[in-house]
Amino acid sequence: MFDKILIANRGEIALRVVRAAREMGIKSVAVHSTADSDAMHVRMADEAICIGPPPSGQSYLSFPAILSACEITGAQAIHPGYGFLSENAAFVQAVEDHGLTFIGPSAEHIRMMGDKITAKDTMKALGVPCVPGSDGGVPDVEAAKKIGAEIGYPVIIKATAGGGGRGMKVAKSEAEIERAFQTARSESKAAFGNDEVYIEKYLTTPRHIEIQVFGDGKGGAVHLGERDCSLQRRHQKVFEEAPGPCITQELRDRIGKVCADAVAKINYSGAGTIEFLFENDEFYFIEMNTRLQVEHPVTEAIFGVDLVREQIRVASGLPMSFTQGDLQIRGHAIEVRINAEKLPNFAPCPGRITQYHAPGGLGVRMDSALYDGYRIPPFYDSLIAKLIVHGQDRAEALARLNRALGELIVDGIDTTVPLHHALLGEADIQSGDYNIHWLERWLEQTL
Ligand code: ADP
Repeated sequence: MFDKILIANRGEIALRVVRAAREMGIKSVAVHSTADSDAMHVRMADEAICIGPPPSGQSYLSFPAILSACEITGAQAIHPGYGFLSENAAFVQAVEDHGLTFIGPSAEHIRMMGDKITAKDTMKALGVPCVPGSDGGVPDVEAAKKIGAEIGYPVIIKATAGGGGRGMKVAKSEAEIERAFQTARSESKAAFGNDEVYIEKYLTTPRHIEIQVFGDGKGGAVHLGERDCSLQRRHQKVFEEAPGPCITQELRDRIGKVCADAVAKINYSGAGTIEFLFENDEFYFIEMNTRLQVEHPVTEAIFGVDLVREQIRVASGLPMSFTQGDLQIRGHAIEVRINAEKLPNFAPCPGRITQYHAPGGLGVRMDSALYDGYRIPPFYDSLIAKLIVHGQDRAEALARLNRALGELIVDGIDTTVPLHHALLGEADIQSGDYNIHWLERWLEQTL
C-alpha cells in the first residue's frame, strides 16, 4: 500500500479523497493554486503545495507542476478526482513515465472511451446495446442526410470528442440537418479542437440511467447497480438517485451483468460509469466515464462501500474488497448538487460565505469544502456542496432531503438550494415520474 498520495484536484472531491486516505493510514498531499491558499482541502491534507496561479491551465491542469509536487513530497500515487486531469490519457502516460501510479484506469482505456466513436464501437463489440446511428464519423451534410433518412428523425449530431453537453445539436427533420451539422461541427472544433461528429437517433422521452462498474485490472469486475440522473439542465445533472425509480431487479441484473462482463473483458481497472438512455424498458449506451463520478455517493450509500478506498486499493495492486455476491442494495439514496448560482438564470455567484451550517442527523451526508468566512473564488466550477441522504425507501429519502435542506444555511451568496426545495414540492418528483426533458420544461414554466 502507498504511504503517501497526491490529490490533483480541489473543492469537495479533494476533501473526499483526503478522508479516504486518512482512514486507510495514507498521508495526503493537497495541491492548490494561489486562489485556493485558504481552501479546506489545503487545511485538511497532511501537506500542501502551491502549484501556480489561478487559471487552471497553469495550476490544476499543469503536468510539470503536479509531477514536481509529487517529486518534492515523495508522493507515490496521484488521485485525479473528477474533471481536470481525470480523463487525460497523456497525463496518465506522464505519471507512469515518472515511475508514479495513477489512481484510475490505464491511459489506453481512457483514450478508448474518450473518443466516443471508438467507445461505441468497442461497446457494441462487447455486446452492450447502443443508440442506433451512424457507423463512425459523418464526413459531410450529404452523408448526414442519408443517415437521417435511414434511421428516421429526429436525430442528434454529437461531437466525437464531446463532453459536458457541448457540441450536440438536434435536427427534427431533413430541413434542419444542414444547420445542425455545421453548428455541431464548429462548436466541437472550438471546444475540443476536433470537428469530427457522429449521428444518433434522438430519443424523445428517455431517462438517463448509468451503471457503476468496478474492475480489478486483471479480468475481474463487478457492477454496483444504477443511478438515475435524468434531472438535467443543459445536459448537466442536478439531482441523482439510486436505485432508479423505474429499474426493476430483473432489468438491473441484466444490464449490470452486460456492463460488468464488458469491462472485465477489457481488463478495466478501477471505477467507471457506463451511461445509458433508457426508454420503453430498453437501454442504449451513450458514453463511458473512466473516473469517479460527482454522484458516486448515492451508490456508496445503498451498497455501504467506499469507492475511493476501493480505487486506492486496486491501484496499489490489492484485490477488490467485495464480490458481486456481497453487493446488496439497502434502501434509497438521493444527492442534490448545490451550486453557487443565482436563479433564474443560474449565473455563477462566487463570493464570501458569511455563515455556513451543514445539516446532520441520521442518513445525512454533506460533501462540501465550505466553511464560515470562506471566499469562493470565481475561477472554477460552481459546485460548492453535495447533500446526500439515505433512507429505508424512496419516500423516507425524500422526507429526509426536505428536512436536511431546511437545516442547511449558506449565507452571503446565492445558491441553487431554492430550486431543490421547489422540486421536492412537485408531484412528478415525489412519484419519480420524470425524464431527461422534465427539468428544462419545468424551468421554462416556473422560473
Ligand atoms: P456529454 O459527454 O457531453 O455529457 P453525452 O453523450 O453523455 O454527452 O450526453 C449528455 C446528455 O445529452 C444525455 O444525458 C442526454 O440528456 C442527451 N443525449 C445524448 N444523446 C442523446 C440521444 N441520442 N437522444 C436523446 N438525448 C441524448
